[in-house]
Amino acid sequence: MDIEINNKSGFCFGVVKAVEMAEKHLQQHGSLYCLGEMVHNQAEMERLEAMGLKTIDHAQLQELYNCTVLIRAHGEPPSTYETAKKNNISLIEATCPVVLKLQQRVKAKFEEVTKAEGQLVIYGKKGHAEVIGLSGQTGHKAIVVSSGPDLEQIDFSKPVKLFSQTTMPKAGFEAIKEQIALKMGQSSPTGTIDLEARNTVCGHVSCRAPALEAFSQSKDVVLFVSGKNSSNGKMLYEVCKKNNPRSHFISGTKDIQPEWFEQAKTIGVCGATSTPVWQMQQVVEHVKNLAT
Ligand code: SF4
Repeated sequence: MDIEINNKSGFCFGVVKAVEMAEKHLQQHGSLYCLGEMVHNQAEMERLEAMGLKTIDHAQLQELYNCTVLIRAHGEPPSTYETAKKNNISLIEATCPVVLKLQQRVKAKFEEVTKAEGQLVIYGKKGHAEVIGLSGQTGHKAIVVSSGPDLEQIDFSKPVKLFSQTTMPKAGFEAIKEQIALKMGQSSPTGTIDLEARNTVCGHVSCRAPALEAFSQSKDVVLFVSGKNSSNGKMLYEVCKKNNPRSHFISGTKDIQPEWFEQAKTIGVCGATSTPVWQMQQVVEHVKNLAT
């Protein structure tokens, strides 16, 4: 049996950086608070918790004083930094550099579009941590849209600056952009529109779906390893399933069923941006042991 790990799977560089910063602090101090779940992967969370990582929410942050808290790769709105300052909390800034840059762009463009009495629109999931961080740059005045019905919130007669959450699908961004442009055109007496659209989907995520299409097609069986809460994981698993019906979503080796491998010669192991490489290696070892 030939078994291969997809070389595009595993943590993206933003998550690698955040985990390394947490590990470094934990090795030196033995404990650390992290605001929100560091990665949407239970096995990795258990590993970090065993090192001393404690996950807190925003309500708990309000009650903490004189300690150290890590800001994970998704980023945070300005109010979190204000709370930290008020409570004398030292922050470890592990916001992904790509997200930090996007926050700065959103802030600058919001100021610009507000002067023109326009609107800043974010294509993303309402309530997602990254979107809350981005929206916070606008005092939460940004309009968040994820599908057609959400567009009702937009005044199409006014200027629009459009950005994307980094982990949304590129095709979805293009579709939303076209719908906004169409509606703006329809509400403009002259047909001219003032729409500035920035496709800020992260290349470290968008390259994965095409890579998994070819990978899953080339295997008899595919094992997709991911935490159940990872939206990126759900989306990438669908890519595998579409390209290979013998694809299976697993959270760890305990989910693997030996009958999946009947008459299979080639097995592919892949995962989400929140799946650690060590977990995929564990899956490989487990499957090899089944075969012996
Ligand atoms: S997906 Fe991209 S933007 Fe998001 S944490 Fe990873 S590298 Fe950063």
